[in-house]
Amino acid sequence: MALYRKYRPSEISSVVGQEETKRIISNAVINNMVSHAYIFYGPRGTGKTTMAKILAKMVNCEHLVDGVPCGECNSCKNIFTSNDVVEIDAASNNGVDEIRDLREKVNLVPSICKYKVYIIDEVHMLSTQAFNALLKTLEEPPSHVIFILATTEVHKIPLTIASRCQKFQFTKISDNLIVDRLKEIAKLENISVKDDALLEIAKISNGGMRDSINLLDQLRTYTDNDITVDDVFKVCGTISYKEMTELFINIKNNDIKYVVEFIDDIEKRGINYTKIIEDMLSFLKDILLYMSSVNEQYIKSNMDSIVNVSKVLDKNDLYKLLHKLDSVMENIRFTTRPSILLTTGFIELARDMNDEQVLETNNLKTKSVQEEEVVDKVETKLEEPKKETEEVGYEEYYNMYDFDGVINNTFAVASKEKLANVREKWNNISNYLVDKKYNPFVSLLIDTEIRVCGDNYLILSSLYESNILDICTKYDEIKKFMKVLLEDDYDYAIVTEEQWNDLKDEYIKNMHSGSKYEVRELNIKKIDKKEKKSNKKDNISSLIDIVGEDIIEYK
Ligand SMILES: [Zn+2]
Repeated sequence: MALYRKYRPSEISSVVGQEETKRIISNAVINNMVSHAYIFYGPRGTGKTTMAKILAKMVNCEHLVDGVPCGECNSCKNIFTSNDVVEIDAASNNGVDEIRDLREKVNLVPSICKYKVYIIDEVHMLSTQAFNALLKTLEEPPSHVIFILATTEVHKIPLTIASRCQKFQFTKISDNLIVDRLKEIAKLENISVKDDALLEIAKISNGGMRDSINLLDQLRTYTDNDITVDDVFKVCGTISYKEMTELFINIKNNDIKYVVEFIDDIEKRGINYTKIIEDMLSFLKDILLYMSSVNEQYIKSNMDSIVNVSKVLDKNDLYKLLHKLDSVMENIRFTTRPSILLTTGFIELARDMNDEQVLETNNLKTKSVQEEEVVDKVETKLEEPKKETEEVGYEEYYNMYDFDGVINNTFAVASKEKLANVREKWNNISNYLVDKKYNPFVSLLIDTEIRVCGDNYLILSSLYESNILDICTKYDEIKKFMKVLLEDDYDYAIVTEEQWNDLKDEYIKNMHSGSKYEVRELNIKKIDKKEKKSNKKDNISSLIDIVGEDIIEYK
């Protein structure tokens, strides 16, 4: 038997939390002031249906003592097998038939109990028709009937119905109360479980007792009765705060090896990437709140972990992490290799955070040969720090690098063998992930595809316009990287999937009509190096604009 059913409270005093509701309902029953219609509303798993059943039992017990059912009388023993308690799940259908049935039978007197109790779960899901039928009954309820309407979305209940009911709000149950209850159950069931594991179960269940007990149940089976916090993370397909803390700190420390191994481990564990990015985002949000001295009651993540990260990362780093994870999240559904997307993203961040440090220390004179490139960049930044760079769009790059010419020449020299050969080399691209010099280009090229290739020319396509633009801005550097990767020089054009389909059609048409492509000299223009700045503001920066960074709440 499921733990949740086994430990479902049968008395009002054993319901966890909801103190005010319990007190008012007990008093009403004791003083014979029971209403004919109730609405129990609040989040899932907080005890609404349980309380409804307990209330049904309380109002019907023949020998109620201080609001506690005797457990001996005919009603106590048989109430839930009689027809006097009717449960309707409005979520499973629109409820029209059930409500019609209800209207037909509502005037019949109960068979063994004093009151017939109708419990309508997820009542907001009833159709308008069903609500109208219910309303007619509620307008003049027979004296032997009690309605208990339970819902997670009280605002969806028509006002005409809601105004005829006494309303009780059920609130999320605190982590501490959930932990205490789980401890009791674990003890009775001989389950060995660590305190931090219980706390994590409570947090994951987000105030829902039912979810927490179900999770304990699941963990018991998974671990053979000995549950640690890591088991909780594993079963829930997520990563621990400790792991996130170490990851963020190692990104800051520019430990690329750690990052690569970390993602490798995630991959092996078969964790859902969307889920872990969500977890990371809410952890980062909490760190940001903590650093902005927001009241700790709004912070849900593990406090020790938050403090540890905030000792090493500053707000700027957090924003960078948030931005990067946000964009990874946006693209993750389009890629078949989320692990690479995430790895390259983190490596870029590590570089980015450490470039900043070069800038901060202002230690530009003592540079080693390898650092020259980085420092050059920094110096350019320093010379013109405020000047807005003029924006260069895709079309300009298209002309600048004579993509028309490249495309023409690629078709002129295209060969299937060459394409197969180049694609094979292209597959080694992930080897450059750990290479500091080249890994930024890996992340740009990972979502592109080589469409046609011949001697020294190739055409790439990508699904994303922003990706294409990023590649164009680094055209020459990527060309150098391709030389390393493909072991030869290539002039390349990058186009969208749509453009590629058009090009392909045109090529086929030309082949049929017998017109030939001939290699011509490329007309690559020398234009002052301009930097394309993305004018697309992402969600987070606009949020920060609106609310100011101190109260940003990112979900
Ligand atoms: Zn009884």
